[in-house]
Amino acid sequence: MAKFKVNKKMGPVAVELPECPVCMDVMSAPIFQCQSGHSICNSCTRILLPPICPICRQAMTQMRNWQLEELISKATVPCPNRSTGCVYTVVSTEMEDHLKECIFREMACPIGIAFGRCSWSGKLKDILDHFKERHSNHCYLNTDNDININNISVSVDERYMYLIPQGKFLFILTLKVDTCQKLAYWVVQHIGSKKTAQQHIYGIQITSKQDDKRTVIFTDKCFNDAFDVNEIFRQARCGIMPLTMLSHFIKDGKLSFKFYVKRNQQNFKTKEKGHGSVKETNKGPRGPGPQSAGNQSRGKSPGPMHLHQRQKGPKGGNSNKQ
Ligand SMILES: [Zn+2]
Ligand SMILES: [Zn+2]
Ligand SMILES: [Zn+2]
Ligand SMILES: [Zn+2]
Repeated sequence: MAKFKVNKKMGPVAVELPECPVCMDVMSAPIFQCQSGHSICNSCTRILLPPICPICRQAMTQMRNWQLEELISKATVPCPNRSTGCVYTVVSTEMEDHLKECIFREMACPIGIAFGRCSWSGKLKDILDHFKERHSNHCYLNTDNDININNISVSVDERYMYLIPQGKFLFILTLKVDTCQKLAYWVVQHIGSKKTAQQHIYGIQITSKQDDKRTVIFTDKCFNDAFDVNEIFRQARCGIMPLTMLSHFIKDGKLSFKFYVKRNQQNFKTKEKGHGSVKETNKGPRGPGPQSAGNQSRGKSPGPMHLHQRQKGPKGGNSNKQ
């Protein structure tokens, strides 16, 4: 029998809630009863054919066990991954969300999820070793070095993915070239909880090989891996760059960029929640800096990214704040 803690007004009390007599699993709403009053979990009720109680052979009814449903909704339950190290205890209705980001869960290989080329699954602590062994070209161990993508073209749809460890945390960088939308998307996800993800800011800095004064910097908060990356692309909640612009940074089919992750400062403020910012700078003669008057006539970028551009020339320092 599973042990639960129920939050009553007088404080948490440890009680034991009944398990489903059919599957022996934790009951979840709606809970239906048979004619003589046995309660059976939702998933078991749905597959009963004919709808006869497996305990007493009486017919199942549409009668709900409201008290039990309420008790279960208030109960805090330990994470099922407790045996492998998780110490989380959450209200049962929030368990589903926790299980998506529990770092002790069984995880599928991110390469397998994205490209279907790997069937590995395992624990978070083993992912890095798995990448080193099987996907070493998708793994960046030292972010002091540039990340290099060879054979990239703005005329071919492709997705590039890298696993990047930073201290004890793991991050996944995804770059998608979408020739239909004519856009490149950049997303960084932390493997772990949403909370930890939001405590990290990533930065991508791309410098033109033709003109080293031409640099684009994008910074944003990280998502966690429970967030579907395709949904992030679709909602444009990421770095977005026109392919025409990206092409300026590709030389002989090669794209190089710098990547870093840093701890989100407590007083870090973004003007628009959930949006990042992009700067395009030309390190010419330094102007008065980013506080100088903006050139408001510039066109808007296609995505939510904020283009801050500085122009060449003796004045320099033209910046744009949108
Ligand atoms: Zn059941
Ligand atoms: Zn019964
Ligand atoms: Zn857990
Ligand atoms: Zn794999």
